Amino acid sequence: MSSVNTAIQLITREQAEKAATAGKAAGSTCSPDLARGPWDYDLAEALAGTPAYGPGASIADVAPAATPRQGQLPDKYKNAGDAELDTWIRAAKAELGERAVILGHFYQRDEVIQYADFVGDSFQLANAALTKPDAEAIIFCGVHFMAETADILSTPEQAVILPNLAAGCSMADMADADSVEDCWEQLTEIFGTGPDADGRVPVIPVTYMNSSAALKAFCGRNGGVVCTSSNARTVLEEAFERGQRVLFFPDQHLGRNTAKALGIPLEQMPMWNPRKDLGGNDEQALLDSRVILWHGFCSVHKRFNVAQIDKARADFPGVNVIVHPECPMEVVDAADSAGSTDFIKKAIAAATEPTTFAIGTEINMVNRLAAEYPQHTIFCLDPVICPCSTMYRIHPGYLAWVLEELVAGRIVNRITVDSGVQADAKVALERMLAAKPK
Ligand code: SF4
Repeated sequence: MSSVNTAIQLITREQAEKAATAGKAAGSTCSPDLARGPWDYDLAEALAGTPAYGPGASIADVAPAATPRQGQLPDKYKNAGDAELDTWIRAAKAELGERAVILGHFYQRDEVIQYADFVGDSFQLANAALTKPDAEAIIFCGVHFMAETADILSTPEQAVILPNLAAGCSMADMADADSVEDCWEQLTEIFGTGPDADGRVPVIPVTYMNSSAALKAFCGRNGGVVCTSSNARTVLEEAFERGQRVLFFPDQHLGRNTAKALGIPLEQMPMWNPRKDLGGNDEQALLDSRVILWHGFCSVHKRFNVAQIDKARADFPGVNVIVHPECPMEVVDAADSAGSTDFIKKAIAAATEPTTFAIGTEINMVNRLAAEYPQHTIFCLDPVICPCSTMYRIHPGYLAWVLEELVAGRIVNRITVDSGVQADAKVALERMLAAKPK
């Protein structure tokens, strides 16, 4: 199976006729601009002075002004062919040896994943880095919040490097620290700060791992906690032991899907729109709430819909539909099951008979699973090839650049979380680790 990038290049070069001659469907991509070098967008951003997420799934998302900008990649790396980049990356990796560890997120493109020492989700990768205490450099081929988490968990001597600073997460950026502080002030005015008769505080802030270090620190300072898509249910159950309600950010869908599974009615889950007073709610709705959902979402998982599931069921009777809980509620309800990337991987690995799986998560991971388990038929629910466009900004050219700079004794694109923020964020992460399933 060709990589997502190869497929996008093929589609974009308008080789549909050639593909048709060969008897293959050309397919479609959400943005032909994905085929261009990601450095084109660094240049565009530098010229326009307005950072953007780049083409693809996140194209309609608005990048906040504070979004990090990537400087110009040296021409040597932009103009190099795949074979040259491969030679440079392998040579630099060999030269650095144990001094550097490369981490690759499940949603990263194959052209980069081939060099990763560890592949996993964001929290697995941050923990994997802990098994390499001698590594001076942790090169995180994921997005910005993941590199921040790795910096929080690594030693002060270790440098965490994000090969392309423009690899952000549009969902994480939908909840900035100022907006959350403002929301917290408004909620405190309504709820007060005192506990109820059972000793439960009015509201516990819960942030998804896909958030900035500043928000993890906010949770640490305010009795809150971090969750992942694997442990969101456990974390919410624990939060309800300590609090009357939860403020959940930034992903409304993970919050809603998890709270619904706990039996909380939708009318007790008002949405908080940070651009409106009281988040667009009246006071009573907030007083009656159990979970206040931040108005954030993942542009990749938002693409999945019930019609795609209906089509998969019509085309493949008996198909097993598994989706990620960042998908909208109707999609999760229509699927056979929903869970984290780890859940999806384990579900496929556990199938003993050849099975057809329709998967609702990022295309790079789905294609890799299909290649890993040829005994099964595995396909992405979304027929349009639309990778996470922010993560896609990490091209082998950026990886070669940061590695060769390391060989030359220079650290570029280091992600550093302020020590005060780190300390508070660790409190919220430790609360997550202490939460045990009921
Ligand atoms: S897939 Fe969605 S949540 Fe994950 S990094 Fe990309 S934009 Fe962020």
